[in-house]
Amino acid sequence: MHRVVSYANVAAEWFPELRLLVLARSADERAAIEDLQSAGLPNVRWVESSVLQDGDIVVPRSVKDEAVVLLRESDTHHALFMTNRCNSYCLMCSQPPTPADDSWLVDEAVDAIRHLRSPPLLLGLTGGEPLLLGVGLRRVLDAVSKYLPGTQVEILTNGRLFSDWRVAAQILTGLSTPVRWLVPLYGHADFVHDFVVQAPGAFDETLAGLMALQAQRQQIQLRIVLIEPVLQVLPELASFIGRNLPFVREVALMGCEPIGFALANRELCEVDLAQWSDTLELAARQLRRHDIPHLLMNAPLCSLPKALWPIAQRSISDWKNVYAAECEACCVKADCSGLFAWHERGWKPAPLRTIESAEAIA
Ligand code: SF4
Repeated sequence: MHRVVSYANVAAEWFPELRLLVLARSADERAAIEDLQSAGLPNVRWVESSVLQDGDIVVPRSVKDEAVVLLRESDTHHALFMTNRCNSYCLMCSQPPTPADDSWLVDEAVDAIRHLRSPPLLLGLTGGEPLLLGVGLRRVLDAVSKYLPGTQVEILTNGRLFSDWRVAAQILTGLSTPVRWLVPLYGHADFVHDFVVQAPGAFDETLAGLMALQAQRQQIQLRIVLIEPVLQVLPELASFIGRNLPFVREVALMGCEPIGFALANRELCEVDLAQWSDTLELAARQLRRHDIPHLLMNAPLCSLPKALWPIAQRSISDWKNVYAAECEACCVKADCSGLFAWHERGWKPAPLRTIESAEAIA
């Protein structure tokens, strides 16, 4: 793991416990870095690159003349991948799980956190299922607290393992890092949720996990991916949340990402959101009635009734966000989530239509 630094910043950013990859722009700069190495600084190397940027966190590959960029300081969205293992098998999983032991990713994440130059506002931890890491996840969270004060962490988890009090205690007791837990819930009853996540018993475990998070006063965002079996029960689910889970901070209704298992289960995952307008409006009404904040993610404005536009967010990470030809002349493009970059291989959330005047939409 290395932090990329410009030559001018080497003296200011050098610490014995960090590894620096110096962007050398001339023969003189390369020679100066080699002099530092000869003088006994083994944690400084130079690189010639027009792609790497000051502040990037990279893993150089020794066998090839290349480096993997883990985090880019100039990005808006930052995320660390924690594991590819999972205890669910969701119909629309965008990152299909594998069973291989990848626990080394914990050390890599801690190292990446140590090497970041300045705390990002937000850091996502994703998987796979991060709770499978147990104390490893707590190590990462404690590293954020130590090296990145002020950074808000978001963890995408199915929450099931928090139903085991030992896991909940391992990860949550005395936790000082600000964390928002992003937990999917796909039904108001076990037969729907367990079917969507392809795991018997998951509904009960997720609810127990949510209770464990609430007992520790943790922030929870419930996530509902809008695929057909979920849309069929969405108003009942919204009402269930209002009556039984009033402590959640917010509910995110999310368009499905057309990648991974969603492509294999296309008949269940591909929906035209425009045809579910009434269902979406009814669910939003239920949540409003129970005073539960809610938002729409990954849903283009032209797929939604105008009444829901105020809760639709530009949510797709910058590196995977694109717009279509219809968007070029669209007057709401600046506020619209647009599309996932891989929609061409999958599908659009609804047939797109250029909006020429926002006032004209009913
Ligand atoms: S046409 Fe494009 S920019 Fe306009 S609302 Fe639809 S997806 Fe968004």
